[in-house]
Amino acid sequence: MSRFLAPAFENLRPYAPGEQPQTGRFIKLNTNESPYPPSPAVIKEICDQASTLRLYPDPECRDINRAMAEAFGISSDQIIMGNGSDEILAFIFQAFCPKGAAFPDITYGFYKVWAQLYGVKTRVVPLRDDFSICLDDYRELSETLFFANPNAPTGIALDPGDIMTVVKEKPERLVVIDEAYVDFGAESCLPYIDECDNLLVVQTFSKSRNLAGGRVAFAAGNRALIDDLNRIKFSFHPYNMSRLSQCAGIAAVGDRSYFMECTSKIQVTRDKTAKELKALGFEMTESKANFLFARHPSLTGFELYTKLREKGVLVRHFGTSRIEDYVRITVGSENEMEALVEAVKAIL
Ligand code: PMP
Repeated sequence: MSRFLAPAFENLRPYAPGEQPQTGRFIKLNTNESPYPPSPAVIKEICDQASTLRLYPDPECRDINRAMAEAFGISSDQIIMGNGSDEILAFIFQAFCPKGAAFPDITYGFYKVWAQLYGVKTRVVPLRDDFSICLDDYRELSETLFFANPNAPTGIALDPGDIMTVVKEKPERLVVIDEAYVDFGAESCLPYIDECDNLLVVQTFSKSRNLAGGRVAFAAGNRALIDDLNRIKFSFHPYNMSRLSQCAGIAAVGDRSYFMECTSKIQVTRDKTAKELKALGFEMTESKANFLFARHPSLTGFELYTKLREKGVLVRHFGTSRIEDYVRITVGSENEMEALVEAVKAIL
């Protein structure tokens, strides 16, 4: 730490992203990326656009806003684009948590980091023993509520109808639904943004649209909420989405059949792998995401993570309480998951 750091950040504990090895020798099932390349339309668009990089991108993201609005059946002033959903979620923590933030004890680990960064008070609500979210625990709370749906790293999804009961009950409280994994079999809350001006839905192109490296995401909600988020964005980084990200996002959202093909392959592979791992004695949550959250009675989570790593398979282990025994396994291609199952068999 230098002597120049503001005292407010002396105890800031940054988020630790999953490992990104720089050699190709790992089967990488640790950061929930897609095993499939971006749509061919994305690759073509990026090549075509490369020569325009001398110019700044459109800070208002008009073309991509229009493309998103059309694809999701909403109006373009109900959308703000972000350089990944991490950026948008950071804006939300900064803008909309004057009464604090409430979220489950086991959820996306970045929520508590943003809260600390922006000095937001947090209320951490334990999941049930089976790792499901008990929505009743949140009904009386006045903090801004954050739910990843499906939740991470459990993969368990809530029903939008149940979420909307909580949203509607207290219109003076904002509810943020982080739908990073919604396209793998869960249901979105997007259809409710017209009805409820206290609902913000965040989606990313990092997982289901094969663009983790492209940094494309959006939040959708009532116009006033989006105006507020633009107030933060234009006070921070007007050119938050590069030209390449914007054109990649437009091409990706335009190629619906490729999106459907990739997301359905991943769901089939997920369910097949889940069955195979269960047959080997694994216990797991019912995941509606592109990962499995599993433990084996004869190994600790750390042992499993380490032994798989030795065999060239990277999975994610969180050393946090209640989930030390689990690993989170991203669903890769058929071949990658076969290699995972073989590696697990050898370890057992
Ligand atoms: N929300 C959840 C629940 C996530 O797991 C992730 C991925 N780490 C993100 C948001 C952020 O994704 P990105 O910034 O790539 O859009």
